[in-house]
Amino acid sequence: MARERCNPGWKLSVETEMVRSNLKFALRGNHPPRPLVPPIYNSSTYELEDVREGEELSNTSSKNGYLYSRCGNPTVDVAAETIACLEGAEGSLLFSSGCAAISTCMTTFAKCGDHMVLCQPVYGGVNATVDKILVKLGLEVTYIKGNSLEEYKKAIKPNTKILYGETPANPTMSILDVEGFAALGKAHPQLVTMIDATFASPYLLQPLKYGVDLVMHSCTKYIGGHTDLLGGVISFASKEHGEALTATQIYLGNNMSPWDAFILHRSVKTLALRMDRHSENALKVAQFLQDHPKVEKVYYPGLPSHPDHELAKKQMRNFSGMLSFELKGSMENGVTLVENVKVISLAVSLGGVESLVCHPASTTHCDSYVPAEMRKAAGVTDTMIRLSVGIENAADLIKDLEQALDKVKI
Ligand SMILES: *Cc1c(COP(=O)(O)O)cnc(C)c1O
Repeated sequence: MARERCNPGWKLSVETEMVRSNLKFALRGNHPPRPLVPPIYNSSTYELEDVREGEELSNTSSKNGYLYSRCGNPTVDVAAETIACLEGAEGSLLFSSGCAAISTCMTTFAKCGDHMVLCQPVYGGVNATVDKILVKLGLEVTYIKGNSLEEYKKAIKPNTKILYGETPANPTMSILDVEGFAALGKAHPQLVTMIDATFASPYLLQPLKYGVDLVMHSCTKYIGGHTDLLGGVISFASKEHGEALTATQIYLGNNMSPWDAFILHRSVKTLALRMDRHSENALKVAQFLQDHPKVEKVYYPGLPSHPDHELAKKQMRNFSGMLSFELKGSMENGVTLVENVKVISLAVSLGGVESLVCHPASTTHCDSYVPAEMRKAAGVTDTMIRLSVGIENAADLIKDLEQALDKVKI
């Protein structure tokens, strides 16, 4: 069909040729090209064979081809299928950001008058989405203290539709019992269970294997891993959930772009190598900080002193690259530290190859996302410093922290 369109039987004028020339690209020789790496399909639409095909592909659950890139794009699908394979999922959907993935999930499975239960702390952007948008639309919300299964159970009501968890939690690194969480959901068939496992990555933890319904990641973090893309992913265990989410995404139009999907797909190939190195480095840094006289407390699930160490060991392949810590004395000491590191950068975000340090109470969990009393109740102290340990040589990171700690006066 494309060949006929290129050659309609008369000589086209140059303006028309230029507009239609894209149809010729796949027609060199007798076969389409077979690239080893998936191409970036930037096309926003796809030529239809006939009207019947257009009708079939307009059904939001159709998987038989491509109609329009908001409804599906080949580059995005390759990246999504790769992540679905990692998660052991029925399928995955890619979004323009982690927050887009979370809000799509919540609006798909809860409507006005329904109730959601969330742990505390939770990613600051989730607090904002829930408190500033969803509550306004009529959703009822309960934040439990911490993430114990007992607290979740107590909060469930007849109209509860979503149980939302995060593990390891940002920034306290507390660990949710994923198996128990899934079982609690299964005991209440009206419920959908959802976990944000961004801090673990799908290499270190696969919640769907424990029976959780949906798992979310900010691809901006470990899966992307190079601090050069924004994205989110939801992976689902059931086809019905997948179809409902796909329809919401098509209507809201918050998909990942083909370019971001291309670099995401490239990045997934090294996820296992990176996570092994992140985890190895983070343990060394955590041990160094734990033994340092100016450090008050270290939050890293890989340390036997962490209250959830055994649980983390049971459900995760390794402990990841995220840790938090508090210095002795006032917040000023933390400020001295984060402003004096040289190899580590002061920046929000996490999960990239380079080490980043940030101060959650003034950035990721600041007042415009989380009310101060809620932040404090969740254990996000003013003196807490969060460190995303990269894949550099651990000795350089430790040396950097050591010289910055030397400048801190206790
Ligand atoms: C960053 C992050 C998000 C939000 O993802 P964006 O890609 O920034 O929208 C959600 N959850 C956690 C745990 C995060 O770290």
